[in-house]
Amino acid sequence: MPKIHCPDCSRDIGMHELEGKTTTVRSGGFSTRYRCPFCRTDMDNITDYLV
Ligand SMILES: [Zn+2]
Repeated sequence: MPKIHCPDCSRDIGMHELEGKTTTVRSGGFSTRYRCPFCRTDMDNITDYLV
């Protein structure tokens, strides 16, 4: 099970614990933003924080 290491509060977060929010972007695609459930930090690209 992959986990994300939060850059802000340094906790390890399970993928299923992240708060995800999908938005439409101008170019017509979709962009998914994720948020740490502990400190509410937004993470644009969670692959950068994979443990
Ligand atoms: Zn956090």
